[in-house]
Amino acid sequence: MSQTLTVKIHDREPPKLVFPNRCLGCGNPKAAESNLLIKKLVTDERTNEQDVVTLKYAVPHCERCARSTKAVFLAGLIPWALGFLAVGGAAFAFVAWGAFRRGFDTVGQLHNNNSLVLGAAAGLFAGLVGGLVAEVVGRVLLVPFLGSALLRAPLLSLSLLADGDWVAGLRARPNRDMTALALTFASDDAAREFLAANAGLLRES
Ligand SMILES: [Zn+2]
Repeated sequence: MSQTLTVKIHDREPPKLVFPNRCLGCGNPKAAESNLLIKKLVTDERTNEQDVVTLKYAVPHCERCARSTKAVFLAGLIPWALGFLAVGGAAFAFVAWGAFRRGFDTVGQLHNNNSLVLGAAAGLFAGLVGGLVAEVVGRVLLVPFLGSALLRAPLLSLSLLADGDWVAGLRARPNRDMTALALTFASDDAAREFLAANAGLLRES
């Protein structure tokens, strides 16, 4: 059973979290660390200024879970990047060339780049879809080699859209205005220890 705890974030400062001193993935003694990295663009409602808020934590792992975390990350990133470039690139070329041929660049001022702008928008959208599809296909193909850790991890494409992150045994998702961070522990014991060590920072959820 997994358990979700919500940590409060004050003034966009990373809360000082204390993790249990053993692997969050399997409970074995700590022998390594994996980075949990959350970056989110937040708009200040009073000043309308945008700011990137970064939270970074070293999560205790055993060697095996640290390696598996890296493997799962690469198994998501590489197919995603290939799908993004292939599908996004094709859509960019197709739309930009099509718009150029239809004379979009002669609309309005002289020497504008309407076809490139249209192509880039189409390429970005198609690339995100292509990346997601490639990641799903890549994951299905890689499960026999990388094992069930791959099935438990959220898709990188969706994690990125939600500005969250995952390491073996722990998933993190910030809320919309970055005032709270939801941490989902795969192990109830790890969640209980975390709760005891960080009680003052938690929010009722
Ligand atoms: Zn482990």
